[in-house]
Amino acid sequence: MGNCRSSGLLLDANIRDIEEETGFTANQIERLYSRFTSLDKQHKGHLTRDDLLRIPELAINPLGDRIVHAFFTDGHARSTNDISEKEGMREVINFPDFVRVLAHFRPIKKNSEKNKLNSRQEKLKFAFRMYDLDGDDKIKKDELLHVLHLMVGANISQEQLVSIAERTIQEADEDKDKMISFDEFCKVLEH
Ligand code: CA
Ligand code: CA
Repeated sequence: MGNCRSSGLLLDANIRDIEEETGFTANQIERLYSRFTSLDKQHKGHLTRDDLLRIPELAINPLGDRIVHAFFTDGHARSTNDISEKEGMREVINFPDFVRVLAHFRPIKKNSEKNKLNSRQEKLKFAFRMYDLDGDDKIKKDELLHVLHLMVGANISQEQLVSIAERTIQEADEDKDKMISFDEFCKVLEH
């Protein structure tokens, strides 16, 4: 494994920025960087969806594809320049994006107000994006059904899944538009 700092891609200044934004320590960031470069087979400096799906934990997770999707529709990524216009979705993520997304999975620490990425609100947003397949900020029955199907596989009949999805939407849907908004989603998970 080469020294990543000498590669010029990960400078001390970048590490400090990332540290401050995500709450990871410099050591953790360097470890994530070697993970990132090992996934970046062609040394392009960014990862595609296929690269991420090569992560074993994601490859065997029935929700792996959805998790990867949430990586690429991350709110922070949306504000950067190199997004694909047609879907408002990135095709590749660079190292800071990669770390930002992983920061969502860090446990919530008490009294750590400065790291907002792993706040409860951010975690909920990330979970919401896993369900919101078309990115319109609403979860429709079909989207819920799709994710339920991935989670339970073939163990439950399609009929039962439909009834679970319908019941879930009914219970969450306060404004009766037959879809779950982010606010409605948060209220359900608070119970
Ligand atoms: Ca949707
Ligand atoms: Ca609704």
